[in-house]
Amino acid sequence: MKHLDIVIATNNKHKIEEYKELFKDLDVNITSLKDENIISDPTEDGATFEENALIKAKAIKDKTNKIILSDDSGISIDMLGNDYPGIYSHRYQESLGGAKKANELIVSKMPFSKAHYTCVIVIENYAKSPLIFKGYMYGKISSKVKGEHGFGYDPIFIPEGYNKTLGELDDKTKNSISHRANAISQFIKYLKENNSI
Ligand code: IMP
Repeated sequence: MKHLDIVIATNNKHKIEEYKELFKDLDVNITSLKDENIISDPTEDGATFEENALIKAKAIKDKTNKIILSDDSGISIDMLGNDYPGIYSHRYQESLGGAKKANELIVSKMPFSKAHYTCVIVIENYAKSPLIFKGYMYGKISSKVKGEHGFGYDPIFIPEGYNKTLGELDDKTKNSISHRANAISQFIKYLKENNSI
């Protein structure tokens, strides 16, 4: 098995934990920006998940020789329309007073609305141009905020085929069905097809 060193271009420690778990069966060493002593918090002013993930990857391209994996992700709630909050997921929560308050408001106004998560990952410092993979997870909004697992909108999101929120499901289950897992499995397939792992 070939060894890879990958820096995750995020300051979100939940995402780091998820990526460590998603690569655990491979000879991949995952580090965070903190581990690499890299300070980066670029303005995410792209119009799509893809543009924002590219902004995050480019921001550290000259600061490391390791492979960079950046991730832009979010939830889209059908009742809000227009893929909203989508790329604004973090800002939407903040505008409502933080994750806890936002989740309470969403379950009170939009219970059972269809919703989905999107995760776009960009791989830099690997191929000539950045690689891009997109993953999704479909489901609905719950009628109550439930569970402590995961982060962000997880306590109000019930994945298709389940009757519990991601907050109630254990981390292993989330990592087998999530938008992030979906994007990563495409990247791992690419690595295997290219004999890179
Ligand atoms: P980002 O760090 O700019 O990609 O912000 C994504 C935001 O979307 C996070 O702050 C969360 O609010 C939300 N989000 C993305 N992925 C997840 C997830 O797996 N669970 C819960 N919330 C998520």
